[in-house]
Amino acid sequence: MQGLIFSIEEFSVYDGPGIRTTVFLKGCPLRCSWCHNPEGQSYNKEIVRSPNGCINCNNCINVADIVDGKTVFTDDGIKNCPMGLLRYSGENISSEQLCEKLLKNQNMLQSGGVTFSGGEPLAQSDFLLDCLTKLKGKIHTAIQTSGYCDTQTFKKVVGMADYFLFDLKLADDRLHRKYTGVSNAVILNNFSFLASSGREFVVRIPLIPTVTDSDENICGIVNLLKQSGVNYVELLPYNQMAGAKYKMLCREYRPDFDERVAVKVPERILRKNNVAFKIL
Ligand code: SF4
Repeated sequence: MQGLIFSIEEFSVYDGPGIRTTVFLKGCPLRCSWCHNPEGQSYNKEIVRSPNGCINCNNCINVADIVDGKTVFTDDGIKNCPMGLLRYSGENISSEQLCEKLLKNQNMLQSGGVTFSGGEPLAQSDFLLDCLTKLKGKIHTAIQTSGYCDTQTFKKVVGMADYFLFDLKLADDRLHRKYTGVSNAVILNNFSFLASSGREFVVRIPLIPTVTDSDENICGIVNLLKQSGVNYVELLPYNQMAGAKYKMLCREYRPDFDERVAVKVPERILRKNNVAFKIL
């Protein structure tokens, strides 16, 4: 079984319990306005350019393709860059190869484990399930997810992984569609299933100024938490550097909100509703 990954990061302490190795799978069905990892969006290999060390010779731009009005780097760009700044993002790897690599650090990861992130790891569900099957009982596994995938697949993954980091972004479906490009209906169904499954998980709320940090949204999410008996969340305040990686793809970062506005941390609402929280 082949998958497409774009990074493996070791010694992560934010992607689940303990020290973990995080595998980033390529491809995501959402287009969150605040996405800070655009490399994870496309389901295909693509060429990215490091911004550090560029001498602005434009050798890469001169041989780039224009697709739908956007600049797309080509193989010739990789060859022509005198500074060696262009590279492929996306590596095909078999589940056997990947799991063998991950299990080499089995001892070191005994107090932590392996986290599958992305992109959206559920978007390569066959590959993900194959990896989870191979790792079952050998190493602790976690899935960092938006929860967006068909419920049948989600149930299979819940049956195989040990832990979930589940994003809840916007409680209102209209706003969810506006800011992420997809409805939250299937996400909320999957969340209910996860909460009643007995599987360990943590809810994460990205705090995006004027979008997800509004009182209305936090109250809406708190209602969802209460319905599922959840009394702890992790908060991820918006990172002002979110747009930095778009230049690597020759893309502009144009969020649908004013990123200069300070994030509101919803301490009062969470405390009032007895929801404990940690700011990451
Ligand atoms: S070819 Fe390399 S050095 Fe020249 S503009 Fe492109 S990235 Fe910069």
